[in-house]
Amino acid sequence: MKVNAQSTGGSPAPRTLFIGDLHLSAERPDILAAFERFLLTQLDYADALYIVGDLFEIWIGDDDRNDFTDSVAAMLNQASKQLPIYFTHGNRDFVLGKRFAKRAGMTLLPQVHKVDLYGVSTVVLHGDMLCTADIEYQKYRRLWPLYKLLPIFVPLSKRKQMTANVRTRSQARTQQLSNEIMDVTPAAVDKMLKDNNAQQMIHGHTHKPAIHALANNKQRLVVGDWYQQDSVLIVTPAGCELLSKPL
Ligand code: MN
Repeated sequence: MKVNAQSTGGSPAPRTLFIGDLHLSAERPDILAAFERFLLTQLDYADALYIVGDLFEIWIGDDDRNDFTDSVAAMLNQASKQLPIYFTHGNRDFVLGKRFAKRAGMTLLPQVHKVDLYGVSTVVLHGDMLCTADIEYQKYRRLWPLYKLLPIFVPLSKRKQMTANVRTRSQARTQQLSNEIMDVTPAAVDKMLKDNNAQQMIHGHTHKPAIHALANNKQRLVVGDWYQQDSVLIVTPAGCELLSKPL
């Protein structure tokens, strides 16, 4: 007896889901609730879930355990029993480490991850590496290996104080910079695709959700942020779809 029979006569098409830039924080329970709803209702028939960075508004160390971080870990861990969850770091949560990943049931990916997605060679990344017009940011980015050591040398209470300053400065800077500088550069996109011999690129970071058709049948898929609405990219063997609905 076919319980799930569809018009195709089989089960629904396999799919891979991509999300990013949720910027979860204890101050935005509405985003957290939307994320939980997504995990509970949207994972059916999915082969995998990719979180392409900035899952958190800020991550100061896996030792920062509280109701908020524990609940996110629990939600993800529950979902990970259903499908593999992959995480690539964003510029807000690049300090997220193996301990939290384990609690959340996520697999950590390298900064640039190559995967064959239903026959299409795909490169998955957060996207900030592509914003090469922002020289100052790229300089800061090179210091990440040092920042990653902060949880070892700086006590949690001190790190919490530091965060407040960093956030204010980052917000002020973002407001000053032009749209172009904050976006990816075509040259960086081109190079990333070429270097990885990829046909397709999937990223977030810019908060400019879109499906860009590029030369030579290549494409760049960008997931959006979750500030006012969600944003989910669904890739199937037949193509892709970018969905969004208000929180
Ligand atoms: Mn980002």
